[in-house]
Amino acid sequence: MDAQVVAELPKGLVGITVQEIKHFNNELFSFKTKRPPNFRFRAGEFAMIGLMVDRKPLLRAYSIASPTWSDTLEFYSIKVPGGPLTSRLQHIAEGDQIVMRPKPVGTLVLDALLPAERLFMFSTGTGVAPFASLIREPEVYDIFEKVLLIHTTRNTVELSYGFEIFDDATQNELLSELVDGKLVHLACTTREQSPSMGRINTWIEDGKLTKFADDRPLNPVTDRVMICGSVEFLKTMKSLCEELGFEEGSNSSPGQYVIERAFAE
Ligand SMILES: Cc1cc2nc3c(=O)[nH]c(=O)nc-3n(C[C@H](O)[C@H](O)[C@H](O)COP(=O)(O)OP(=O)(O)OC[C@H]3O[C@@H](n4cnc5c(N)ncnc54)[C@H](O)[C@@H]3O)c2cc1C
Repeated sequence: MDAQVVAELPKGLVGITVQEIKHFNNELFSFKTKRPPNFRFRAGEFAMIGLMVDRKPLLRAYSIASPTWSDTLEFYSIKVPGGPLTSRLQHIAEGDQIVMRPKPVGTLVLDALLPAERLFMFSTGTGVAPFASLIREPEVYDIFEKVLLIHTTRNTVELSYGFEIFDDATQNELLSELVDGKLVHLACTTREQSPSMGRINTWIEDGKLTKFADDRPLNPVTDRVMICGSVEFLKTMKSLCEELGFEEGSNSSPGQYVIERAFAE
């Protein structure tokens, strides 16, 4: 790895030590780091993280996948072939130092939504990362009666991280009682054969999602929606939500749905 561990980091950056890495395949991995003292974030936010390369920071936006109560920070990452950061980041090892700008931001936060009965989280690919934090956040279950994590990928192996965080939320000693019967996981593939196939916008349009969601269609009166994925996915889901009467929320003006890009095109 040509990243450098430097004693003195540029102003505004902190070093965080890698503790654990898990590779799912040659396109996806997750890792945990130590959490810097005094680092605060809201579930669903992202921060700029990266590596020092040639003494300069190479940073990219990353959703924080761990819940706010955890003493580690967790990230879920793509490996872009030839990608400036991820072609290096995928080689990190336990004990390595990565860098972070400790100023998390984002719109996929509870503050940007008005309270309601059900929370739908729609994601594609690594867009599931902010929801990995949210589904393990006790406050979510204080506000919502039902929390639906919907994750779509091309192939089944790309669904692995979603299953892992769902299991963590439902089996965690401290969370399981809160989560029990409230958290639902729908894992879909668009390419490889699996029990649930197809694009989620099609599931909404043809009513298949309604069957999965207690026989009640998406409704802006009772439901809130969070969306994270590719630009194309966001566009499709945004117009679908607006056709159904959902109004977009923000940190300053909470609403009925919120969106965030999972990556820049
Ligand atoms: C708000 C926000 C949050 C993000 N959170 C995450 C995250 O939690 N995990 C993560 O892996 N990435 C995330 N990204 C993308 C991340 O910032 C980088 O783009 C990614 O790490 C690749 O970096 P790179 O330098 O290797 O390649 P880049 O030069 O950044 O990207 C090269 C190309 O690869 C494609 N690409 C980049 N990221 C992805 C992705 N995640 N999935 C599919 N295609 C992609 C795009 O077409 C992009 O143009 C996020 C981006 C934004 C804007």
